[in-house]
Amino acid sequence: MLAPKNKSLIVANWKMALPYAKTIELCTKHRNDFVALTDHATIICCPSTTAVAPVAQIFKGTPVAVGAQNCSAHTAGPYTGEESAQSLAQAGATHCLIGHSERRLQHGETSELVATKMIRALEQGIIPIICIGETYEEYSRNATLATLTAQLEPIFAALVTAKLDTTPLIIAYEPVWAIGTGKIPTHQELTHLFDWLVTTTKRPHTFLYGGSVTSSSITMLKTISTIDGFLVGTSSLDFQNFKNIVSLV
Ligand code: PEP
Repeated sequence: MLAPKNKSLIVANWKMALPYAKTIELCTKHRNDFVALTDHATIICCPSTTAVAPVAQIFKGTPVAVGAQNCSAHTAGPYTGEESAQSLAQAGATHCLIGHSERRLQHGETSELVATKMIRALEQGIIPIICIGETYEEYSRNATLATLTAQLEPIFAALVTAKLDTTPLIIAYEPVWAIGTGKIPTHQELTHLFDWLVTTTKRPHTFLYGGSVTSSSITMLKTISTIDGFLVGTSSLDFQNFKNIVSLV
């Protein structure tokens, strides 16, 4: 499921902030409330790996989709501790965050590895949510577009090699310096950046912004017409906060 173009796509990334029991509690208690949010927006919840299957069960038969936060670059085999895209698909994940900056920076994931993971996901019918974004150091020396180009090139090369180059993707621009910091780029910076993304990537992909999205910052962010939706971390951990954001898009 990509987002229908008349509805915003809102992805909740619960990272490792919500342990298993709290995740199940949140989804059980607010099951019908999450479903009601789909009147306003397309909703994808991304719990941590152990909770993917039970959360997919809770939302089975509803429009609320479930995404994983990562998948292995391998198909199957002796990779202790890894989770294959096949297992995630069987557990009920229809989407998968790939290349989140926390994976790139804390786990040394290169853009080439990110591209391989994307292919593994697509092979299983999972829609990848490709995360890209520059560090503050790169932003400060005006290297944002160079960084994004370097992150995107292996993605598009891998799609061509796999003969999947017409596949529409979900691409989330998340400046590393905006994640969990309360800082966001200006309206002008984001307008310029998303115009560039639309032009550079050529196909009708779905473009998300992520980084300190709150019920305050959404007022400015939603005025940028090239942004199709939002990837929400901290503000998605509390249902009421999340609902406030969704009701404002
Ligand atoms: C994220 O990590 O994907 C994210 C957007 O986090 P936050 O909303 O907390 O900045």
